[in-house]
Amino acid sequence: MSTGFLSVDLDALATNWRALDAMTDVETCAVVKADGYGLGAGKVARALAKAGVKRFFVAVAEEGVELRQALGPNVEICVFSGHMRGDTDMIADMVLTPMCNTVGQLTRHLEALPEHPFGVQLDTGMNRLGLEIGEWASVAEIALAQNCRLVMSHLACADEPDHPMNRQQLEQFHLMTDGISVPRSLAATGGILLGPEYHFDLTRPGVGLYGGMPFADAQPVAYLDLPVIQIRELEVGETVGYGNAWTAKRPSKIATVSGGYADGLHRALSAGVNLWHGSQSVPVVGRVSMDLITVDVTDLPELPGSLSVLGPDQTVDALAAKADTIGYEILTSLGSRYARRYAGG
Ligand SMILES: *Cc1c(COP(=O)(O)O)cnc(C)c1O
Repeated sequence: MSTGFLSVDLDALATNWRALDAMTDVETCAVVKADGYGLGAGKVARALAKAGVKRFFVAVAEEGVELRQALGPNVEICVFSGHMRGDTDMIADMVLTPMCNTVGQLTRHLEALPEHPFGVQLDTGMNRLGLEIGEWASVAEIALAQNCRLVMSHLACADEPDHPMNRQQLEQFHLMTDGISVPRSLAATGGILLGPEYHFDLTRPGVGLYGGMPFADAQPVAYLDLPVIQIRELEVGETVGYGNAWTAKRPSKIATVSGGYADGLHRALSAGVNLWHGSQSVPVVGRVSMDLITVDVTDLPELPGSLSVLGPDQTVDALAAKADTIGYEILTSLGSRYARRYAGG
């Protein structure tokens, strides 16, 4: 077998959820959109439900359907994109809770499924999803008199604790929601870390559960190892890979490992990235190609059978920084080709 090996530590996932839960006095939910940030929504959500999560969030109704099938009837599943045309049957049959983002979505929901639970997403300045203050003022009374379960908004800059936008959005959320009796939510992972003012009645962490920043104390959840397919010896002056991008300056041993940009190991990782053999790092040389990466293993005392990409010595955020992106994108890019193993849970 030559595929890479993605190992997901469900115990670390549950530990991260408990750690985020312990930072607040309110309900801690879990965001499992984009297939559980690339790690497998069903497996991830079952482990989190076992740890105590009662309410999950997904991006689109189709994800909600899969999640309901994985989790059964005893949890609430909320959909950030709300009640889109064509969603009504899924929302009704799978008992999903859409977060209505516009007056149109709210009208569609109340007309199609009058008794069915829903939530409302408000825009407090991010200008991505949610009702603006004037729209909310015109429908709040009607919405809150129905089966409204949650009123939420989302922070644009929560990963920067000192950013003035945080306080600005907090004040706007108060202005829009103070005095209502429906539960309120403003915080994702970053918002939890901003402190109790941001916690309201429930929090919605995603990335922190999966071991990513801004939750600096998170335990790693994803481990990725790539098998070595071939090792060759190069003489001084020989080149490696597309574009002859690397030239041997000394007699070198080059390992070719199975994994490439089709597996979410972005082509931007070609320069300055290390893989690991135990605790020893070895540099990627040449360009990352679709299925293969070449690594200079000359300095290793023994020939490796595999090399690690994500592990104790290289977090998703460290790898992301090398590709000029964020941990979220590394996780959700991991792709379907890896052999996956789930430990714990
Ligand atoms: C993705 C998302 C979250 C989770 O955010 P993290 O930064 O991953 O914790 C919470 N709320 C909304 C609206 C989201 O889109």
